[in-house]
Formats: sequence, C-alpha cells, structure tokens
Amino acid sequence: MQPRSLRDPERLLFELSRPGRRGVALPPLDVPAPDRAALDPRYTRDEVEGFPELSETEVVRHYTRLSRLNYAIDLGLYPLGSCTMKYNPKIHEKVARLPGFAGAHPQLPAGAAQGCLRLMHDLERALCSICGMDRFTLQPAAGAHGELAGIMMVRAYHRERGNPRQVVLIPDSAHGTNPASAHIAGYRVEQLPSNERGCVDLGALRRRMSEDIALLMLTNPNTLGVFEGEIQEIASVIHARGGLLYMDGANLNAFVGRARPGDMGVDLHHLNLHKTFSTPHGGGGPGAGPVGVMRSLEPYLPVPTVEKEGEVYVLRHERPKSIGKVRSFFGNFGMFVRAYAYILALGPDGLRRMSETAVLNANYLRRKLESTYHLPYDAPSLHEVVFSDRHLEDTGVHTLDIAKRLMDYGFHPPTIYFPLIVKGAMMIEPTESESREELDAFILAMRRIAEEAREDPDLVRTAPHTTPVRRLDEVGAARNPVIRWTSPQKPR
Ligand SMILES: *Cc1c(COP(=O)(O)O)cnc(C)c1O
Repeated sequence: MQPRSLRDPERLLFELSRPGRRGVALPPLDVPAPDRAALDPRYTRDEVEGFPELSETEVVRHYTRLSRLNYAIDLGLYPLGSCTMKYNPKIHEKVARLPGFAGAHPQLPAGAAQGCLRLMHDLERALCSICGMDRFTLQPAAGAHGELAGIMMVRAYHRERGNPRQVVLIPDSAHGTNPASAHIAGYRVEQLPSNERGCVDLGALRRRMSEDIALLMLTNPNTLGVFEGEIQEIASVIHARGGLLYMDGANLNAFVGRARPGDMGVDLHHLNLHKTFSTPHGGGGPGAGPVGVMRSLEPYLPVPTVEKEGEVYVLRHERPKSIGKVRSFFGNFGMFVRAYAYILALGPDGLRRMSETAVLNANYLRRKLESTYHLPYDAPSLHEVVFSDRHLEDTGVHTLDIAKRLMDYGFHPPTIYFPLIVKGAMMIEPTESESREELDAFILAMRRIAEEAREDPDLVRTAPHTTPVRRLDEVGAARNPVIRWTSPQKPR
C-alpha cells in the first residue's frame, strides 16, 4: 500500500463504500409500517444494488475534496470566448433568495403575485429599451432555446403570409446552436461564407437571396469579436425579398448601452441573461434566453405575456396566433431577478461603462499578445479576440497544448478550436471584471508558454503537470464513454 498524497485522484463513492457504514441514524419507527402488499411491486425493492455505504464524514470530505479540484471564476480569470464568464455580484444570490421571490408558487393567482409579475414586466420594459425592440418573451431557458422559439415565431409569421419558406441562411462563423435550432424548426440550413475580415460577404448574400429564404441568423458582434458593420445593408437585402433578420445576441455585452439591435434592422434576437446580465453559469445552467421582437412578430409571442392594466399586473393568455408555451410557467424566474438587479444597480451609464471596459480589456490582451500569437483576422475587434497557433507551427506545439499548459499557470484555458473557420483557434474573452494585474499575469503566462514551445516543446506537449489528472484521452472519452459505474468484482 502506497502512502496517501494530496495529488491522488479522488476515488468514486462506490470505491470508498464499505458494507454497513451509515451517514444517518433513524429512530425506530413509531407509526404503523406501510402495507407493502398494497404497493405495486414494480416500484418497491429491498435494496439498491451496489448503493454506496459511507459515514457522514466520508461523504463531506469526498465532496469537499472534489470542490477543491474545481476551477471557478471566483478563483481567477476564466477567459472563455463567447460564454462571457463575467462578474456575478454575490448580492444577487441573496436577492434571488428573498422569500417573496424564491417561495412564490408559480400557480399563485395573479392577485397574490403582483411583485413577481411587476418584476417580469419591468425587466421586459428594460430589455426593450436597452435593445430597441417592441416586446420580449422571457420564457426560453437558454440562448439555444431562444433561437428555437424565435425561429418558430418566424415560421408562424411566414406561414400566415402564405408560405413558411424552406431555408435559413447562417454564416460559417456561427455558433453550432444556430444550425441546430433552424434544423429542429424544420428548415434547411445553408452556409454563408465570411469575407477576409471575417464578416458576412454581402455580395454572396445578394447573389443567394431569394424568396425561399425565411431568415438570416447573424451573430453581432460575430464569434471573431468583429462588429458586422454592414448589418443595415444586410437587413435591407433580406427585407427586400420578404425575409427576416435574426440576431444571435450572445455577444451583446460588447455594445450594451452604445447601440441597439432594433436600430440595426434586426427583426428579432435572443440574448443570454446569463452572459450579458450576470448570473453564474458554466455548470449547465440554469440560464435564460429572452427573445426580443419587433411589432410585426408580436402576435406570435409565447403565452402568457405579462401586461399592466392600470395599476395591476395580469397574465394574458389570449393571443390567437401565439406559438404557444415554450417553457413551463414563466421561464427561469431566478435569472430574471438577478438580471433585473444587475440592470438597476448599473443603470444606463454603468451598462455603457461595462461594455466599454469589456472591449478595452479584450483590446489590451490583443495588443499585448499580437506579436506572440497569430491573429487570423486583423479587423478591429470588440469584446473578444481570436488568435491561432500558426506562429508555433514549426515547434509541434498546438492550441490544445497551450490550453493545457495554461492550467499549470493557474488559469482556465480559453475557448479553443472555435470558431471553426480559424484553424487552431484560441478565443479569449477577458470580460469587464478583470483588473490590469490579472490581465498582465495572463499575458505573461501566454508569452512564457510561447517561449517554452521553442525551448522545450515536450514540456508544453505533455502539460498539465501540476493537476491531479494529467492529459486525458478526450477522444476515447467521447467515443467510449463509461457513464455507469460497475463494480470491478462483478462481470459486466
Ligand atoms: C452561448 C451561445 C449560444 C447558445 O446559448 P446558450 O445559452 O448556451 O444556449 C448561441 N450563440 C452564441 C454565439 C453563443 O455564444
């Protein structure tokens, strides 16, 4: 037996289990035992096979040890591009847990839920004014869900005009959820090529635009962090043939308070409350993907909508052309509370400063790293910057190695190999929350790794060296996932 080390990988609860260990002690039953014979035998059992048995101390230590292996925004820079791992004020957690919000039953009659309805109503008004849209639905549970709800509204709009059309156009730099949502909504996806600045090729759009195209889905600023400066021309090309323009607003934090999708010719767009307006995310949710629409699409909004009648807030279900409900009740209400608190706390000037600082921080990183790493698109960028590993080609060190080596320097790696149009992409978004010192520490680590790649490429290619788990077989994990633990003693 080896002595224990802090670097040992954490073992599974199943492996730590010992027969007879207990974490709780229940007093003897002092009520009549239920009549098992009256229960459907399919739903009763004497024991759960292989169920782990541990003491309370063992369980607490297991989870505490796991939590210390985690990397979090509360530990340091988390520069994932597009995902916007920004500052989430801790006070929001308290506000969202106020009993009047957290304990409100979703089936309360409107008369007993005026505060919650008012919050949803006022959040919708705030989003409309920030984005220049006429209405918002708060129901969708995430950005991807907002895309689907939006495309369903577009389909209803075109159908009412006699033909739902067949095709959704999507630029080749788009996030994968865009084509997935369009496909689920029953459309054929066609890819639109980017030009040398990484933006939509207006000429290609003009040549392709026709009456079979329902929608163009455009991310602005796009996934290279570049603002689509021709968005108004793009909108008029689409509109001239009766199509609609959808904006993927996941990157809205780049221009909040400075520009509005509604002024750019956008007909509808989602935004990700969990990216632009705080809310911790990254562990799989929950999130919120409200969709803003112009007047022409309002009849198709999901129901119920929150309306103000005099001084009273009501839920309105009558909307004959609605696409129906897209989420149980109202959506992820706790996210609305956090986003509303964020918007009120910052106010118009604070929101503008937030986006300015996000852009400044990204451009600081870009300027400090552009002589070390290759910039595939040299257009001015906003809130994020995309480098590639091309300058290190002759060393045999690739983007994945750089990402892994960053962990040794105490940073979460950036988004890598996305957008797909950049070979060996490293997509870095510092957000507005980081200090100059933190950015400088990251720059130093990135430069040091480039030096290491030249001096000792194997050091980088075998990173990380300081983490409990080293280089993982990611392809094997994806191709042959083991998702159910099986006792090693028992044959599978
Ligand atoms: C995050 C993101 C999405 C999807 O949003 P989710 O909230 O993760 O569903 C779509 N498009 C872009 C550009 C994104 O960054």
